[in-house]
Amino acid sequence: MAMRMSSLFLRTLRENPADAEVPSHRLLVRAGYVRRVSPGIYTWLPLGLRVFRRVEAVVREEMDAIGAQELLFPALLPREPYEASGRWEEYGPNVFRLKDRRGDDYLLGPTHEEMFTLAVKDLFSSYKDLPLSIYQIQTKYRDEARPRAGLLRGREFVMKDSYSFDLDEAGLDKSYQLHRDAYVRIFDRLGFHYVIVQAMAGAMGGSKSEEFLATAENGEDTYVHCPGCGYAANVEAVRVPVPDPVDASGVPAAHVEDTPDTPTIDTLVAHLEQAFPRGDGRAWTAADTLKNVVVTLVHPDGTREPLAIGVPGDRDVDEKRLAAQVEPAVVQAFDEKDFAAHPVLAKGYIGPGVLGSERSSGIRYLLDPRVVDGTAWVTGADETGRHVLDLVAGRDFTADGTIEAAEVRDGDACPSCGHALESARGIEMGHIFQLGRKYAEALDLQVLDENGKLRTVTMGSYGVGVSRAVACVAEGNHDELGLVWPRELAPADVHLVATGKDQAVYDYAEELTRALDARGVEVLLDDRKQASPGVKFKDAELVGVPTIVVVGRGLAEGTVEIKDRRSGERREVPSDGAVEEVLREIGRA
Ligand code: ATP
Ligand code: MG
Repeated sequence: MAMRMSSLFLRTLRENPADAEVPSHRLLVRAGYVRRVSPGIYTWLPLGLRVFRRVEAVVREEMDAIGAQELLFPALLPREPYEASGRWEEYGPNVFRLKDRRGDDYLLGPTHEEMFTLAVKDLFSSYKDLPLSIYQIQTKYRDEARPRAGLLRGREFVMKDSYSFDLDEAGLDKSYQLHRDAYVRIFDRLGFHYVIVQAMAGAMGGSKSEEFLATAENGEDTYVHCPGCGYAANVEAVRVPVPDPVDASGVPAAHVEDTPDTPTIDTLVAHLEQAFPRGDGRAWTAADTLKNVVVTLVHPDGTREPLAIGVPGDRDVDEKRLAAQVEPAVVQAFDEKDFAAHPVLAKGYIGPGVLGSERSSGIRYLLDPRVVDGTAWVTGADETGRHVLDLVAGRDFTADGTIEAAEVRDGDACPSCGHALESARGIEMGHIFQLGRKYAEALDLQVLDENGKLRTVTMGSYGVGVSRAVACVAEGNHDELGLVWPRELAPADVHLVATGKDQAVYDYAEELTRALDARGVEVLLDDRKQASPGVKFKDAELVGVPTIVVVGRGLAEGTVEIKDRRSGERREVPSDGAVEEVLREIGRA
């Protein structure tokens, strides 16, 4: 069915919305695809809904093609299954919770592992029923701490989530690979540039895990890739290659020195250089120091636990890497009140002397994996204005374990081949991972095997951000004038613009619209009589249908113009053969 601008429920805006930080958000609002209702909550307007449905269709086709079966769970869910899996608590403030009139607890589903697992348990009981892959395309609710960038991080959003159910690891590997291949086809068809990176399995447990990231400078995820061997990983999942232990037999005994006014690494390094020049001729660097950072972990049950992290002084603790390591606990700053409650911590001069569950602070202490036995450090002496030098890991201090929380930098060694890593940013579009038996165990999903023995099923979990994909496609397909949709996803096949005052032009445009419609071409017809040609062209460029046909003054000489929105190329074609020309232009001839 053709759409007519004279009656379409659409108002384009010339001004950028004040709250929009990224191009996709600005353009989708300005071009009349979505409207904000509340932070992270959007209405799909007619044009937006058409693009959304097309993205959804691509996802659905590729899921169906691997034999996954579509179903649909409710969004309003009872507490009990989430209680059984431990996530009623784990999810903390991210879940929208509500009570019914009897006072019973409900939630709006942030993700549906529990429901899928229980549905299979409900209906299937034999190995003969497996393998099984089922999916839904459904609205999810998460009370995100920072909804941002329009559809990119919503509080209500649409996800395709699928789950595979297999008897054993070999089956799971196969289901995982099928999904991976389907995802490659989906993201190829959606037409944005993406990378597949190793990922953390996150709160859901499990082992093998990969993300599909759309490359984007303003993406929230940082990943590294290795030009040497092709290794690629979300920074959250990078494991630092652990150096071999060092022989410390030549290092003198540790000694505490006065280092007045050196609460920062820079001031410390400057003071060391001036007061304690090194014997080996080289200058002190931040990497010679061990920085101890204390944070507060807030566990799902609300308990607060201080945690100390030791990293080489030339690196910061990376918030996202740390968050991924301590999930489901969340990280908060260790504030003045916390310091007051732990007087053994000398702010700016905290050292391993007091850190560790066995030491005076009782605070759990985790080290960066680079701090191997035998390495010597300058670090806090736990007294204001004093540091300890030649403090050797393993000889003079130990910790409760290691943690991958230090920032990953360009040039760091690739964990797989040693080459220098490069970093870039992206938007997480899809996530596939081998969930294993966590939910099957928690919810007791077992089937009878060939020998009549009960076995716990192993699962895979696979998500695509469908509403996020609309924004992501827009993010990767626009110019200074507006959106430029890939053909398969555009809200229409052709944007037909009738210009001027001449009634013959409007009659012809109407006729051409009907003729194209009859050939299955979706037309967005600009038949507005009051709007100037300039306004119409601007709107056509903003809306971003890939083919623009202009009917105007040329009609009197028997021509219309076909314009490619992406390249800007235009050509005149005879008005009496316009249907065939348009079909050729859009690749349907
Ligand atoms: P993120 O790290 O971006 O918060 P996630 O790891 O929590 O995402 P999953 O639970 O793996 O996300 O969800 C699967 C997919 O759903 C993601 O790959 C992403 O494309 C999409 N998605 C997740 N959260 C949102 C959101 N708040 N708004 C829009 N899409 C989202
Ligand atoms: Mg994820």
